[in-house]
Amino acid sequence: MKTKFCLAKIQAAVLAAAVLLVPALQATAAPANSAKVTVLYDAFGKDQKLQKDWGYAALIEVDGKRILFDTGNNGDILKKNAAAKKVDLRKLDLVVMSHRHGDHMGGLAYVLSINPKVKIFAPKEGFGVYGGDLPSSFYPKDATLPVEQRYYDGKPPDVLHFGSAWPGADIKLIDKDTEIAPNIHLIAQVSDKKGTLELRELSLVINTVNGAVIIVGCSHSGVENIVTAAAQINPKIQFVGGGFHLIQGQTEEVAKVITALRDTYKVAYIAPGHCTGELTFTALKQAFGDHFLYAGLGSVFELKDTVKVLTAKGEAVRPKMTAEDFHNLRNHLALSDDAEHIQLAEGVDPHAHAHQH
Ligand SMILES: [Zn+2]
Ligand SMILES: [Zn+2]
Repeated sequence: MKTKFCLAKIQAAVLAAAVLLVPALQATAAPANSAKVTVLYDAFGKDQKLQKDWGYAALIEVDGKRILFDTGNNGDILKKNAAAKKVDLRKLDLVVMSHRHGDHMGGLAYVLSINPKVKIFAPKEGFGVYGGDLPSSFYPKDATLPVEQRYYDGKPPDVLHFGSAWPGADIKLIDKDTEIAPNIHLIAQVSDKKGTLELRELSLVINTVNGAVIIVGCSHSGVENIVTAAAQINPKIQFVGGGFHLIQGQTEEVAKVITALRDTYKVAYIAPGHCTGELTFTALKQAFGDHFLYAGLGSVFELKDTVKVLTAKGEAVRPKMTAEDFHNLRNHLALSDDAEHIQLAEGVDPHAHAHQH
């Protein structure tokens, strides 16, 4: 009898605990099931229907939500590339502007012309192009001055508002890591690098059941620092795509990024583009092997429990050399002063005689 009583007590306690847990479980949505990334703007790619140009833009689809991440360098080119990829930019749930560099925001006026009410998230800066505000207490007051020498006749409003380069646009400014919609996070960082000192930048992190999917614009604060912040959301990182800003390919810096991404955070797949740099593409390809995904303009990645690269027809492919790649390789070999390279460029197999016996 005593045992039965205890059991009932335990059952009651478990039930009470479960009731207490329910609100906590409801507060955080289950991770997204999948994500899809379409590269709409970049300066390299295989699809001749798309126009290459310096800059970055990508469409991210996550559980039915459509996010435009950056807008490229030029609205006409973004329009053309979106049309070629059958991406309707009138149908967007939100736009994320990574930072204020022209090669990421040049297409925003075009996006607003076809989608004027879309919600835009942008980094908060003091007097930035995305607008802003400051408390009027930011400037020291001098009451001894005649009133006509004083700002706002000596009676400033509490908050001073500064306009954006896109008046009328619905821009929300972000200055700290924020979950803007279920499973859609923005990482807000500040560059401490020479040349972009104090530049604010947002990166996108989608929390999925297969790990975090990270999209970066230029990574001016360091892609390894963005991944560190994303690991707070989900320590398992499935995918990092976008501009890693290692264009000079300095060996030490690239090695540091490889160590962080591959060894520390065990990033499963990388799909670098934009300002990552040609030398860095080579180094990352070596370091990641088949987990390096070619991410030229027009690339589409389907990120589920497996990662698929989709062709224009929507089929999954393993990357292989195209006729254009061979053509480029031949041109490259033709410039060589090695006789065998020149023969290869002319389509002659320098070792052919060896097989004639
Ligand atoms: Zn850029
Ligand atoms: Zn930039």
